[in-house]
Amino acid sequence: MKIAIAGAGILGHVLAWQLHQQGHELSVYEADPAGKNSGAAWTAAGMLTPNTELDAPDDVLEMGLRSLARWPKLVKTLGGLAQFNRGGCWVVAHQEDQGSYQHFLNHIEHNSVVDATRVHYCNHEDLKQGQPALSEHFSQALYLPDECWIDPIEVMGAIKTLLLKAGVAWHDNTPVTHCLAKKIITEQHEEHVDWVIDSRGLGAREEWPAVRGIRGEVLVLHAPEVNIDALVRLIHPRYTLYVVPRPNHHYVLGATQIESEDKGPMSVRSALELLSAAYSLHAGFAEARIIELRTNCRPTLPDHRPAVIVPEKGLIRANGLYRHGILLAPEVAYQVQQTLV
Ligand SMILES: Cc1cc2nc3c(=O)[nH]c(=O)nc-3n(C[C@H](O)[C@H](O)[C@H](O)COP(=O)(O)OP(=O)(O)OC[C@H]3O[C@@H](n4cnc5c(N)ncnc54)[C@H](O)[C@@H]3O)c2cc1C
Repeated sequence: MKIAIAGAGILGHVLAWQLHQQGHELSVYEADPAGKNSGAAWTAAGMLTPNTELDAPDDVLEMGLRSLARWPKLVKTLGGLAQFNRGGCWVVAHQEDQGSYQHFLNHIEHNSVVDATRVHYCNHEDLKQGQPALSEHFSQALYLPDECWIDPIEVMGAIKTLLLKAGVAWHDNTPVTHCLAKKIITEQHEEHVDWVIDSRGLGAREEWPAVRGIRGEVLVLHAPEVNIDALVRLIHPRYTLYVVPRPNHHYVLGATQIESEDKGPMSVRSALELLSAAYSLHAGFAEARIIELRTNCRPTLPDHRPAVIVPEKGLIRANGLYRHGILLAPEVAYQVQQTLV
């Protein structure tokens, strides 16, 4: 079939890759110029962590587990241009925050989605063996070995490279003004296809007014004195910090969550909270260099769940990936594919 995709964020990329592999003829339309991407996926840390997402509803967590199972297969098809990282997630809390840690523990133990047999209760000795960098400040931890991560920018770059090589019609710097049944309209022209898929995230708002943005901020640090090679979550009563390792002692620290559509620069308060939390995790973060401060808005629907809708034959809208869009993209893409008939 001839399919046009509006919006090449994480969902647009994953969709384009999967549909291309199934032999469909694709056109991809992206508003941003190449190399100047402003979508949420370019801010995201890339955590694939359905077991340790405290506030997601169970159906989203179940979807996350299915999607996590799809990720390594997808990355394998990218022929070494991107990495899928297994290494699990360590969950720690300072002594004064044991109440919040206990709350987290209760969630893990009583949530039917989390496989309790895959949760390891670690003492100080286990920490020293498994993640020595954390053993200085923490005497216990939870370890969930099935949590994973990717670098979304690396994965999207790999997909785009392969699609361009395969001759897919990829139009950067081309904002879509209307997604209609079997017709996509840009500022320059219109194209007639069998299906239009609208994956514009916040950019779809004019045609899906319920979509709103929820602000989030992350920092990228270079910390040569820190040796952490797995995901870490620091539980805290006011905010939670996560650390995602990147090659060569780079770390992504996230993330704030603020009910605002302001995409402006990071606030002092957010930077202070994230950096203080990082310093409390490992003293080596004090000498780290701040490489990047990233701010964006997560495309969110009122019930905080992703949705795939078919307003009429020839048009699919997929949106609302919210906090878990990197995790959920393969599963949402699969749902979209099931809808194409
Ligand atoms: C700080 C932060 C940290 C995050 N960390 C994680 C994480 O660790 N794990 C996780 O699973 N999720 C994470 N997320 C969430 C994730 O980034 C989003 O859920 C995901 O990016 C949504 O994907 P999307 O493709 O729907 O939208 P987007 O990624 O926003 O992509 C939409 C694309 O559509 C394009 N577009 C918009 N309007 C138009 C138009 N008119 N015409 C053509 N193109 C258009 C945009 O330019 C963009 O490229 C994080 C988000 C933030 C903000």
